[in-house]
Amino acid sequence: MSGNPAVVMRLVASAYCVAEKAGAIVRKVLHSGELGIVEKTGATDLQTLADRLAQQSICASLSRRFPKITIIGEEDLPSEEIKEELIENGQAEEILQKSCPAEYSGLKEEELVVWVDPLDGTKEYTEASRCLHHQTEVQIPHKGLDTSQLHSTALWLLDNVTVLIGIAYGGRAIAGVINQPFYNYQLGAGADLGRTMWGMLGLGAFGFQLQEVPDDRRIITTTRSHSNKLVTDCVDAMEPHEVIRVGGAGNKIIQLIEGKASAYVFASIGCKKWDTCAPEAILHTVGGKLTDMHGNAYRYDANVKHMNSAGILATLRNHDYYVSRVPQSVLQALKSD
Ligand code: AMP
Ligand code: MG
Ligand code: MG
Repeated sequence: MSGNPAVVMRLVASAYCVAEKAGAIVRKVLHSGELGIVEKTGATDLQTLADRLAQQSICASLSRRFPKITIIGEEDLPSEEIKEELIENGQAEEILQKSCPAEYSGLKEEELVVWVDPLDGTKEYTEASRCLHHQTEVQIPHKGLDTSQLHSTALWLLDNVTVLIGIAYGGRAIAGVINQPFYNYQLGAGADLGRTMWGMLGLGAFGFQLQEVPDDRRIITTTRSHSNKLVTDCVDAMEPHEVIRVGGAGNKIIQLIEGKASAYVFASIGCKKWDTCAPEAILHTVGGKLTDMHGNAYRYDANVKHMNSAGILATLRNHDYYVSRVPQSVLQALKSD
């Protein structure tokens, strides 16, 4: 591409490098063993030093380069001077080289909203740390793992962790970057860990191989740490052949686009806009769909309510089937905005 890249392309190119830096922070804090865990609303709603530092790094780096963009991060942090070592200035050259879809080429900073989840899957991250550093047992019954295999359990949990940077325009998620800091853990010590996926509507999705579950199989992925009766009733109503329980909204969307699951079903409040903006953008780019349990889209305007109060239903294909199976009890309990 010649000339000056469009603002949104420069933003995605920065977000790519910033997400990689945040992923490195997430790995470093884990290895230090000092997580600095804080309970937010309760024992299953946690914040660690990694969440705090990664958000500071992402938000400060992006706002320094794009001062007029609205950036909304998950963590409530006191405004303080950010250490220079947390700032990332890089921009992914391969993204700057791509042509911006015509409809987005004239967008201004003021029109863009960035939703940041600095660490998605914090619950699993803390459990993995307990396994690695304090040798505490963690239950993952669905995996059938011997809980004495603490190291492999920890690595499995760490794969649930992602860094999410979503970009919205006109209330819609139009682009997203997902960094998975512990990807490739199976390769063992010394492996180069981590990968970054990204996508933009009308341009394409990169950093992974799109795969689909065969049409005649229904594999449902859902929460492992925020379940309740409505959540399990709704999963059962889909008549699944298999149910997978893993952490992280980003991780579950990765399962959809890599052919590991057919639908992400979460009939509960709890998931927020920063959990869904980046994953939704990538999923939509490859022809999938993320909605509430009624089949209605979420909006990502700067002033929107943060909670996705009507649950999450995401699929790569056959969205209508899953919407049609949602029980009345769920539809009544979780109203669309
Ligand atoms: P999960 O599938 O349980 O990992 O949840 C996906 C995302 O939604 C994570 O960022 C969770 O922190 C968030 N989430 C879901 N349910 C709740 C809840 N009850 N309280 C706090 N956060 C939640
Ligand atoms: Mg999250
Ligand atoms: Mg988070």
